[in-house]
Amino acid sequence: MDMFLAGQWTRGQRTQPVTNPYDGSTVDTVPVGTPDDVTRAVTTLVDGAATMRTMSAHDRSQILRRATVLLRERAEEFAQTISREEGKVLAESRAEVARSAETLEVSAEEARRIAGEMVPLDAAPGAAGKLGFTLRVPCGIVAAITPFNFPLNLVCHKVGPALAAGNAVLIKPASDTPLSALKLVHLLLEAGVPENAIACVTGSGGELGQAICDEPRIRKISFTGSVPVGEAICHRAGLKRVTMELGSNAPVIVLDDADLDLAAKAIAGGGYANAGQVCISAQRILTADRIAGDLLDALRPRVAALVTGDQLSPETKLGPMVRAADAMRVASWIDEAVQSGAELVLGGKPQGAVCPPAILDRVDPNLRISREELFGPAVAVTRCASIDDAIRLANDTTFGLAAAVFTRDLERAFRFVREVDAGNLHVNWSTQWRVDLMPYGGLKQSGLGKEGPKYAIREMTEEKLVVLHLGG
Ligand code: NAP
Repeated sequence: MDMFLAGQWTRGQRTQPVTNPYDGSTVDTVPVGTPDDVTRAVTTLVDGAATMRTMSAHDRSQILRRATVLLRERAEEFAQTISREEGKVLAESRAEVARSAETLEVSAEEARRIAGEMVPLDAAPGAAGKLGFTLRVPCGIVAAITPFNFPLNLVCHKVGPALAAGNAVLIKPASDTPLSALKLVHLLLEAGVPENAIACVTGSGGELGQAICDEPRIRKISFTGSVPVGEAICHRAGLKRVTMELGSNAPVIVLDDADLDLAAKAIAGGGYANAGQVCISAQRILTADRIAGDLLDALRPRVAALVTGDQLSPETKLGPMVRAADAMRVASWIDEAVQSGAELVLGGKPQGAVCPPAILDRVDPNLRISREELFGPAVAVTRCASIDDAIRLANDTTFGLAAAVFTRDLERAFRFVREVDAGNLHVNWSTQWRVDLMPYGGLKQSGLGKEGPKYAIREMTEEKLVVLHLGG
């Protein structure tokens, strides 16, 4: 596919292949964009931002509504593209497309609700007769830098709110998975987004990312990806506004009064979906020693039933990771844990990019598989002496995106909610749960700012205050 910039589909001087991670076959090729392409794209987007700024909220909402309808009509085509380039099984890709349509639909709704607030200025001393109100105005040009693991939905989470808020948008998709984003641009243009208000430049994140950070006409960068890249962007971006949706190693606490079947079901779903390559994947299972054996008995058969293989085959429940090197990395972290005394309850050797689902028990929480972001199909069980111990371990991390607890005791659930530092907290379900109506984002090194269209619109608009000096 070509990339889209300066109002045109553009070849670029060089191309790079997009490969199917299961068999290494080439799905398509895309251009290797350059910093000059970013500059050209932005020059056109400056006009696009002016167009979007004057477009009525009603019209912006209508465009996003049309895009929602078109995406639902083409759901299967998009799902096939996601599975081929990213490796997730078709059922998950279909769910991602459905979610993406929802994200655009909620963005369309929120486009009609962007409002400021009245400020009662005359309550200040000596301010009788003054009336204040705020206006929310678009940032102008928003750059959306997105990761590989939800190549459609995470683009919609940025483009939907950016357009809803009246911005122009520059997309830089992940090099492993640029096709879903390019197809989305086709669809958005068809839905009525002005050609000068959207661009999608493919190519190396390092090179294009620097050009984006250095480009003074871009006011806002919305980034989803890893902590090191997020930090690099923040350092370079200077006074641009930034939203950072970063990584995690989400803890799930299972207390001794928990419904273990429910916990096992939720962990099997939340630890292995998309081969564990989800920022809110359940990674660290912190459980009372007394029930750990029963929890593992409930979890093992569910995880063992996850058939691995070709993501396009209907029987497969767990497809390849995005790269074979990632499957090797996960295997090496598992080996390291086993060498250090952890018990491998389930697992096996990777074949190419396919990493068999793994469960480790009695994991030392200081090992990499617990401390760092695994981003792979394994969970690490650490046994805890008490709820105090579990909460301490849950917080003993630089991350803070999502956390969960399983308990039937309201008091203990509330202790978890108050004391565990994470942006999204779940009681009696795993960490991997999200809908678009909620504010979503991490604490600590897991990020800055929130997504979910209503909240992303706040981040993609700026606030002006107007003072009416009434009564002379
Ligand atoms: P990544 O390596 O950080 O890449 C993310 C994006 O940044 C890609 O488009 C990449 O381009 C680009 N990039 C790379 N270097 C850059 C630079 N120096 N400046 C600007 N952009 C640069 O992340 P990933 O491996 O694709 O995705 C996995 C990570 O995303 C995990 O850490 C996961 O937790 C996180 N994630 C977070 C959330 C959330 O909502 N919090 C959601 C999903 C994923 P190239 O592909 O060309 O390198």
